[in-house]
Amino acid sequence: MMTVTLNLDCSVCGHDRFRLPIKQKGGAHVTCANCSAYKCQIRDLEKALIAAGRHRTAVSAA
Ligand SMILES: [Zn+2]
Repeated sequence: MMTVTLNLDCSVCGHDRFRLPIKQKGGAHVTCANCSAYKCQIRDLEKALIAAGRHRTAVSAA
């Protein structure tokens, strides 16, 4: 499990850290690290990571 900070906000609490279930394939969902709300599909996250990489993205093992 990784926790990543993205240039995205949780639609529920506005938090910008998300849990990334890296060991799952297909249908894996990213969840908010603060409230665990469903956020987005892993494919969307990949796009977000690419976009966020130009701005602010901190990745750390959790
Ligand atoms: Zn949240």
